[in-house]
Amino acid sequence: MRSVSSARERVGLCAECVHGRRIVSAKGSEFWRCAKSETDPRFPKYPRLPVLACDGYEKTVRQPLSPGGGED
Ligand code: SF4
Repeated sequence: MRSVSSARERVGLCAECVHGRRIVSAKGSEFWRCAKSETDPRFPKYPRLPVLACDGYEKTVRQPLSPGGGED
């Protein structure tokens, strides 16, 4: 399993973008699809990685764990 930081290095901004969709083929190849491309033609469906700068980048907001959730 790869760490988040290595994914961030290989993929760039898409790995942490709300519009980034990770796709793994049957052969195990990894692609990233930009969902923003569906509504805005300025963005490629499959961006060339790593994406280091992007006008459409919106950082994914992770939900904080609720106190006493019992997960550890
Ligand atoms: S908007 Fe930019 S950073 Fe976000 S998924 Fe698309 S190409 Fe990647």
